Amino acid sequence: TVYTPSPARYDDMVYNRCGDSGLKLPALSLGFWHNFGDTTPYEHMRQLVFTAFDHGITHFDLANNYGPEPGAAERNCGRLLREYFRGHRDELIISTKAGYEMWRGPYGDHGSRKYLLASLDQSLERLGLEYVDIFYHHRPDPETPLEETMGALAQAVSSGKALYAGLSNYDGPTMEKAAAILKELHVPFIINQNRLNIFDRKPVDNGLLSSAQKLGKGVITFSPLAQGLLTNRYLDGVPAASRMKAAGRFLHEAAWTPERLTRIRALNDLAAERGQTLAEMSVAWLLHHPAVTTVLVGASKPQQILDNIGALGNTEFSDEELRRIDEIALG
Ligand code: NDP
Repeated sequence: TVYTPSPARYDDMVYNRCGDSGLKLPALSLGFWHNFGDTTPYEHMRQLVFTAFDHGITHFDLANNYGPEPGAAERNCGRLLREYFRGHRDELIISTKAGYEMWRGPYGDHGSRKYLLASLDQSLERLGLEYVDIFYHHRPDPETPLEETMGALAQAVSSGKALYAGLSNYDGPTMEKAAAILKELHVPFIINQNRLNIFDRKPVDNGLLSSAQKLGKGVITFSPLAQGLLTNRYLDGVPAASRMKAAGRFLHEAAWTPERLTRIRALNDLAAERGQTLAEMSVAWLLHHPAVTTVLVGASKPQQILDNIGALGNTEFSDEELRRIDEIALG
């Protein structure tokens, strides 16, 4: 297969500045957590990334442990980049992370300098790249001094193995402390990656969003569709090929309660009133928030990527709509 990206790929995508930085990110980014491991046919992944890039999604998000098996998503991404994106490296933002368990023993998990720098080298090897665009600490590690973890991010950047640094799953106060250290070290820390969706407001509650806005840091929101719950996927039952059936370890069937379903149906009705699908409204709701730079979606089918991009058609919400969404989701 020879891949020629669509010449129209930049025509309709919106690019948002990542905090106060010089980097712009597409309003939607593509995540490699699911559907890029060794259990997915290569042809399938190829269609997903072609669809994304053809529509202006220039940002692919990975982590050391994405699979299955851990490392497989980076290896498969590396193969895709090598085989189809050779002439397009400078049009792509490739991110990876370290912070969850990756290899056995005391040096393959958490937040030590030892773990982060070794893991980044391994990620670059699997990706076949000389540098990643963004390197994240994947989750806070209360047992390692913040100075040590931030020092590792500083070295990742100063060694040229990462262009920017990011933090994932930090709360507001911890992120502010980390940001102060990174500032002192002159590290371009530009982005926070946190779970935020209509059902899950943790980064609002823990101060991350307001801290990010205050400090001029970008925010990329993961699981924007609550792994598929905030779409039409589960309106009429649990489909056989869905994440809930295929990867129930991450999306438990217990999440699909009659009470949850009632809320999903009501949100779906509200989306229809707006002339949107529930997936579109859920992505639009995130983009409407001034702190949010980009919405990090997952997809098992190319069509889902296209549906989610459809959110860009209407990202305005009246106060009344926002109030009804809160009431349905949280009330
Ligand atoms: P989503 O909430 O977007 O869920 C994606 C899933 O929802 C898809 O795989 C698909 O599931 C379903 N779906 C997507 N679009 C549609 C649609 N239009 N209509 C119907 N169903 C749809 O995000 P993820 O949970 O996948 O997270 C996205 C990315 O965020 C990850 O890939 C990863 O890069 C990142 N992430 C980061 C974390 C961190 O700790 N930093 C943690 C988790 C994720 P189905 O298979 O059922 O079709």
